[in-house]
Amino acid sequence: MAVLDADLIIIGAGPAGLTAAQYGARANLKVLVIEQIAPGGQILVIDQLENYPGVTEEISGYEFSLALYKQAETFGASFLTETVTSIKKDSHFTVGLSDGKTLTAFAVILATGSKPALLGIPGETEFSSKGVSYCATCDGHFFKNKKMFIVGGGDAACEEARYLSHLTEKVVLVHRRDSFRAQKALAERTMKNPKIEVRFNTIIKEIKGDERVKSVIWENNKTGKTGEELTDAVFIFVGTVPQSALARSLGITLDEGGHIITDQKMATNISGFYAIGDIRSNAFRQVVTAAADGAVAAHNAADYIDEEKSKK
Ligand code: NAP
Repeated sequence: MAVLDADLIIIGAGPAGLTAAQYGARANLKVLVIEQIAPGGQILVIDQLENYPGVTEEISGYEFSLALYKQAETFGASFLTETVTSIKKDSHFTVGLSDGKTLTAFAVILATGSKPALLGIPGETEFSSKGVSYCATCDGHFFKNKKMFIVGGGDAACEEARYLSHLTEKVVLVHRRDSFRAQKALAERTMKNPKIEVRFNTIIKEIKGDERVKSVIWENNKTGKTGEELTDAVFIFVGTVPQSALARSLGITLDEGGHIITDQKMATNISGFYAIGDIRSNAFRQVVTAAADGAVAAHNAADYIDEEKSKK
């Protein structure tokens, strides 16, 4: 039997990847998690995780990630900080790293998540990190008691508007339609929050400034009215882009939005290759669904690995 570096390689250490690592390690697999930055993924930017079942104490995304990481490590998962540059499959998987090395495994779980989508308007890139931000917990404190615009109508925009509203007298939340996409309870709470001024049917057409953001040009897409308004910051939460380039190059089937199509076992069209969390084609993306994906994938990967080992 070929000696491989690991039974299971998990790429990405967000809630999905870390849960898969824990389940894989507890199933007695030799698990290696490869993460390019730090454990946590997108939830690192959540200031308070309030909808994870059973977690009633205040806990930040960072604290929660650390607990997931420690749990996986305690059960025996190994971690490597590196960027994966390629994945190939023949009799097993070979994962290429940015330092030129390669690692082998019977199965791979991809949990690389997503990154914030851009609004694509003039001034956005120019003023990125100069008043334009995609992370309220990272950058909000720079705008304490200042004027802030928030763009978007999903869960992220509503949650981050609440966080930012604690830092200043009032924030302005603009959304292109006349109702939120966010979950109903969150949308209602946002509407009732006196510190969030909600402007529906409004788009930001341009972000202007000199060294830093100074104003936005807005347009009401119902009335056609436009205006320029002073602001110190523009926080943008208009969805996410899946990080699926590695899967694409391996020939994994994706949906039209670039998310990976899996079956109920989290298996893709290439046997031994699983996809979980935000990268997976799934309408409802939560920390709890990411964790569930991780458990399911690790369980099924363990069966697959057993079969592969018995063939050798
Ligand atoms: P999302 O649910 O895809 O919402 C994106 C929002 O941005 C939508 O309201 C959309 O408007 C708007 N938008 C998109 N492109 C736009 C553009 N070019 N100009 C103006 N507005 C634009 O994204 P998300 O809020 O980042 O959430 C991503 C995923 O993470 C979702 O599955 C969400 O449920 C999950 N999430 C969950 C939580 C939680 O459970 N607490 C927190 C954060 C995120 P339309 O509505 O008109 O399409």
